[in-house]
Amino acid sequence: MAPRLLFVHAHPDDESLWTGGTIARHIAAGGDADLIVCTWAPGTSRHAEVVDAARILGLPREPIALGYADDRIPESAPGAPRFCEARFDSQVRVMVEHIRRLRPDAVVTYDPIGVYGHQDHIHTHRLADAAARAAAVPNIYRRLGDPWQVKSIYEVTATAWMIDILWEHVFDDMPVERLQGTPDHEVDLRVDIESAAIVDRKESAISAHHTEMDRSLAMKALMTLPPEIRRTLLATECYRRRDLTPGGIDLL
Ligand SMILES: [Zn+2]
Repeated sequence: MAPRLLFVHAHPDDESLWTGGTIARHIAAGGDADLIVCTWAPGTSRHAEVVDAARILGLPREPIALGYADDRIPESAPGAPRFCEARFDSQVRVMVEHIRRLRPDAVVTYDPIGVYGHQDHIHTHRLADAAARAAAVPNIYRRLGDPWQVKSIYEVTATAWMIDILWEHVFDDMPVERLQGTPDHEVDLRVDIESAAIVDRKESAISAHHTEMDRSLAMKALMTLPPEIRRTLLATECYRRRDLTPGGIDLL
């Protein structure tokens, strides 16, 4: 049987950009999954966009919004603390409650550097990792439901060849620091999306994020790349695998 998956992302759009093919492929194969998005509260434009994107990818339920503010955009969650500044233990508690209720076999989130160093992504990695481990411990947060053992954590990452393409074609005149990609031998799982229908679905889900398509130069550059280069980037999603139980669980 296909594993139950829980995707944990910082911002609306990351679910589609980094893991959209994995989600769409998993659901199309009869699997089940949920999505938690840490920033942008219900009622905001980008929350509405991630609801649309989740539907396009085939997720059976609406994304769960933790409702924190995006690091650089206070209006993303009026009155709420910035995601990276809220009390970590309170955040772990909320995430443990979701994990014990949803009972995922695997949690999918960013790698320890948040794929490319974004502070909200790094914080999301730490939160998902801490909560996945705490959810299994009976004596922590005892009132939050029965303990649940997540079997594996999958950390989405950018490989060296992806970074090369991104820097040559997407970030070429932007003032961002070039990162080293994850070496190929440290990638544990490559999800190659052979089906054109699944890649189309991923592109549609990315395009549902109208606000980012209008605002972000990188997003515009990505979606206007020559089709063969864009497809090369979008049709492969790479992960590092961290098993929390002996043997863990295969994502696919
Ligand atoms: Zn992001």
